[in-house]
Amino acid sequence: MDFEHSARARGLQERLDAFLARDVAPHEEAYHRELLAREDPWVVLPVIEELKAKARAEGLWNLFLPGGPEVGGQTQGAGLSNVEYAPLAERMGRSLIASEVCNCNAPDTGNMEVLLHFGSPEQHKRWLEPLLAGEIRSAFCMTEPDVASSDATNMQATATLDGDEVVLNGRKWWSTGVGHPNCGVIIFMGLTDPQADRYHQHSMVLVPRDTLGVKVERMLSTMGFDDAPGGHGEVSFTDVRLPASAIVGGPGQAFAIAQARLGPGRVHHCMRLIGLAELALELACRRATERLAFGRPLANLGGNRERIADARIAIDQARLHVLHAAWLIDTQSGVGGQSVLGAVSQIKVAVPNMAQRVVDMAMQLHGGAGLSDDFPLGAAWTVARALRLADGPDEVHRGVIARLELARYGQGKWGSK
Ligand SMILES: Cc1cc2nc3c(=O)[nH]c(=O)nc-3n(C[C@H](O)[C@H](O)[C@H](O)COP(=O)(O)OP(=O)(O)OC[C@H]3O[C@@H](n4cnc5c(N)ncnc54)[C@H](O)[C@@H]3O)c2cc1C
Repeated sequence: MDFEHSARARGLQERLDAFLARDVAPHEEAYHRELLAREDPWVVLPVIEELKAKARAEGLWNLFLPGGPEVGGQTQGAGLSNVEYAPLAERMGRSLIASEVCNCNAPDTGNMEVLLHFGSPEQHKRWLEPLLAGEIRSAFCMTEPDVASSDATNMQATATLDGDEVVLNGRKWWSTGVGHPNCGVIIFMGLTDPQADRYHQHSMVLVPRDTLGVKVERMLSTMGFDDAPGGHGEVSFTDVRLPASAIVGGPGQAFAIAQARLGPGRVHHCMRLIGLAELALELACRRATERLAFGRPLANLGGNRERIADARIAIDQARLHVLHAAWLIDTQSGVGGQSVLGAVSQIKVAVPNMAQRVVDMAMQLHGGAGLSDDFPLGAAWTVARALRLADGPDEVHRGVIARLELARYGQGKWGSK
């Protein structure tokens, strides 16, 4: 077993480190302060577009796309494996803007993967190419306020076929990215055929954001953060009429696509959270050695050394876990394959819980400052906490892990559910 990254991956890590330190980090705090101070934070500040242009020119763009597929006559991304991408996503995860700057941000990466794998040539031209170019952004509308949405087969909003058109009705919420001024397309999941079997009732439809009948009713906050300019919206769809060619992969395919889409998205979130936890630990260590209480550095008080050691252990364990899942995706049957299902669910439980605990420890070591917006810890904690729900709650992933584990031993004497 070789724990060393390839020469190509190491080269990209060095280039990304240099870019993030030289070009992104100096702008980060001012960027957030400016957005917070604005009456209207739903804007793209010019610095983001400037940094995107630099990242693209330096080849630090669309790094998340495994294998470097060809779209629009051009090879996209750097042709990396998931194992090679993991440390790059980790580096971007230390920052709250770097992923967008490098066109590697949620929910666009998952949406681009949907279009890449399931989209028609026409859908590639209209939506995938501008997304890959960072010209537009996107949202994914699956979750609904009125039904338990951790079960993807529950969705009630409708996508009804009417001749050569499809008509959408219903209400979605937690639609991340829908508030972004550049959001051009929404992937909508709706019920098409209630008579079909449970896993073939729903369709995914590509909805231009400015279509008649699409209305953002309100923007939600997450633990008080508006997450502007991306943000999460509650969106109503009222008699939204589109050509049937806007359906991705054909009617009834939404469940299969959702399973595939959420795979890469989940893994990317975990990779980024390792970076966020590293940032929190670094801040904790700096604070613990620079600040004195009772005549001693905070690090030397109470159980703080043990807490710092436990955080290091937890981060390193989680990183190895994520790299193993990435390696399984690279070497087995891809994210949608059964063989990696359990591994992806395992990291989806382990990593957000780990990051939440590490950030919480860092907040406590910072005292009152840790809860203020002088430090990014409140925002980091909220990201980690939210990811215990977004892309499926912990409990649902634990259910998958337990099912696979129990299946190894058959039904047993009394069977199992
Ligand atoms: C910040 C954020 C961003 C999000 N972004 C998006 C997005 O872009 N697009 C989108 O469509 N959705 C998004 N979501 C929604 C998210 O995916 C859902 O909230 C999640 O899937 C849970 O669905 P629900 O809220 O309806 O909870 P419910 O389905 O009502 O579940 C509530 C709770 O019930 C329990 N539970 C449910 N099922 C089980 C089970 N099988 N076993 C044990 N306990 C169980 C769990 O404790 C669970 O948390 C986002 C959420 C957040 C917080």
